[in-house]
Amino acid sequence: MKAGVLTAPNVLSFDTVPDPELAPGDLLVRVKAATVCGTDIRIFRGRKTMGVRYPSILGHEFAGEVVAGGKAGGWSPGQAVCVCPAIACGHCQHCVRGYENLCQNLQAIGYEIDGAFAEYIRIPAAGLARGNVFALPEGLTYDKAALAEPLACVINGQERVGVYRGDTVVVLGSGPIGILHVKLARHSGAHKVIVSEPNPLRREAARAAGADLAVDPTAEDLPAIVRDQTDGLGADVVIVAIGVPALADDALALARHRGRVSLFAGFSAGEKAQLDVNAIHYNEVMVTGAFGLTRLQFEQALKLIASGRFEVDSMLTHRFGLAEISAALATAEQGSAIKVAILDA
Ligand SMILES: [Zn+2]
Ligand SMILES: [Zn+2]
Repeated sequence: MKAGVLTAPNVLSFDTVPDPELAPGDLLVRVKAATVCGTDIRIFRGRKTMGVRYPSILGHEFAGEVVAGGKAGGWSPGQAVCVCPAIACGHCQHCVRGYENLCQNLQAIGYEIDGAFAEYIRIPAAGLARGNVFALPEGLTYDKAALAEPLACVINGQERVGVYRGDTVVVLGSGPIGILHVKLARHSGAHKVIVSEPNPLRREAARAAGADLAVDPTAEDLPAIVRDQTDGLGADVVIVAIGVPALADDALALARHRGRVSLFAGFSAGEKAQLDVNAIHYNEVMVTGAFGLTRLQFEQALKLIASGRFEVDSMLTHRFGLAEISAALATAEQGSAIKVAILDA
């Protein structure tokens, strides 16, 4: 089959590789759509990320069509499916407590397991047995279904930090993840959503996604604007949606007393930040992390997108064929794209 193969940091080629070999219980899926994630770019650029091997095939946001296998689970060739890429063991201490996204034996497609920037993808038997494979809801296109994964991660982040009706929410960074945070906060009934983003195209995308205000932090006084919009109190929720360590401290300064901060974006291994610990202590600010997704959040995201009540079409700004994998990654890395999809020709 054809695949985008990562052989070393910054080296990704469109190559012919052996078709995936199925072990008993595995499922073979023809990839119909895969979307590029910021993490794919980070791995491509050689920033240290858990589970990455060389050579390997990236891509963990995808949907496709069953080709072979999976009979025991009731799957049949031609069926449209979408897969939660994080395969938890089900029996470790974290799984037992229900934190399957933090599984001690987590195996993720696109990391430890070859991913979706390929014609075909093998879903391990464990993933089928655990219920990581979902039938595509009727009428949902493959490219929109691929966005269930990042949306599920965003659902996890907002469940952890808590976004409620009437909240004022500040989102720092308006790449694809920031846009999904804006849309989900709106969906949850946030009263006011303020985005901070230096790139003008992304500010425009944030407004189109439902942000009330999109601020340029390099030219405007973001803290003053947030105070002005919140009767001088600060935001109920501040979400760091881009992996810049210094933003963690900025977020603390924007939160109201008893406000909540989500360090949603991943930082590179070893990165540290200065934090105003008194802002946490005296203001009783709650700081939460967020990592990955659960199958339940994946299912919720898939249903939300399929319902038509959560618009994602406008996020799919660029489409490429698999042969153009390098151009797809380059486009995703630039600020002009929101989501880049790689489609089966
Ligand atoms: Zn992702
Ligand atoms: Zn586990």
